[in-house]
Amino acid sequence: MPRPILATVHPEALRHNLNQARVRAPDARVWAVVKANAYGHGIERCFDALRSADGFALLDLAEAERLRALDWRGPILLLEGVFEPRDLELCSRLHLWHAVHCIEQIDWLAAHKTQVPHRVFLKLNSGMNRLGFTPTAFRAAWARLNALPQVEEISLMTHFSDADGPRGIAHQVAVFEQATADLPGERTLCNSAALLRHASTPLRGDGVTTLAGDWVREGIALYGCAPDYPENTAAGWELQPTMTLASRLIGTQQLQPGDTVGYGSAFTAEAPMRVGVVACGYADGYPRHAPTGTPVLVAGVRTRVLGRVSMDMLAVDLSPLDAAGVPAGVGTEVVLWGRSASGAVLAADEVAASAGTIAYELLCAVAPRVPFSPLP
Ligand SMILES: *Cc1c(COP(=O)(O)O)cnc(C)c1O
Repeated sequence: MPRPILATVHPEALRHNLNQARVRAPDARVWAVVKANAYGHGIERCFDALRSADGFALLDLAEAERLRALDWRGPILLLEGVFEPRDLELCSRLHLWHAVHCIEQIDWLAAHKTQVPHRVFLKLNSGMNRLGFTPTAFRAAWARLNALPQVEEISLMTHFSDADGPRGIAHQVAVFEQATADLPGERTLCNSAALLRHASTPLRGDGVTTLAGDWVREGIALYGCAPDYPENTAAGWELQPTMTLASRLIGTQQLQPGDTVGYGSAFTAEAPMRVGVVACGYADGYPRHAPTGTPVLVAGVRTRVLGRVSMDMLAVDLSPLDAAGVPAGVGTEVVLWGRSASGAVLAADEVAASAGTIAYELLCAVAPRVPFSPLP
């Protein structure tokens, strides 16, 4: 028998979450953001559930090729644009739309020989200071693109640094509105956090256009996590987990007071208690920094990780199960995040927060050695 760890993707949850985006931004089209191999889920595994999206957004050209190989004929957006001039040939051939965020990318386009003019998303740096033209350079960039025969249509794009937090987005929205005033073209501003928290905010003060704009770019919410946890939870946003990471107990230990667990003896029993040993460790992508107390479901019962996570195993507290008379031994189901066979749910957000990170990182980090169940 193979080692019992297994990841499962839930297509019905992906469909549900995509539909939630439609509810929250009824007038916008939705990019399903599938970068990083669909946030670790696998593009091919998610494709069927997400094919009612209006387009797919990603940044790796090889991932774009995989979508075309799945026979996706609709829009694909390269969120970072091209990395070198010859990438433009692939854009022409596969009809990829691409962000344009720097002068070099405009120079490459101007030198590109193509029969098919490109659709580009001109990116404004409205304050994130990662990619994009400054407000002062933005109009000149637009005018230059507009004069190129290689360009068919220009859309306008920006990205928020604080859509999930207290600083919010108003300062960046103001910069976007000013820099793009009177420029034609479709608009895309929102990631998941902006979509959930700010999508109905008016844009340009005309009372008709909202921040949702023409396209929203939904990533993490599609995968059932709350971008603003712990202020809000996935359940509170009516999102369902799309990935379960599950394993089984492969051993148990009976501890006496003073006994310790694992490397560094990081946990010490204060009373007699039973410990379960789970076939899951940091080499599977489980965060090594998850301390004692990190939540975990054993036979659907919520309990906690004990001591240090090791490469291939971690320890869990079986006391809540023993107290409730729930049998637990070798072979018992353990859910690291996601949905248990009993229906109990453990949000990846909770595990991530306990380990000092975010659910994005956990989902993306599931290791290649972890098998995925076949799709239903
Ligand atoms: C990753 C990404 C998104 C999606 O972000 P989420 O927080 O996962 O919704 C949107 N836009 C850009 C430019 C991105 O890089």
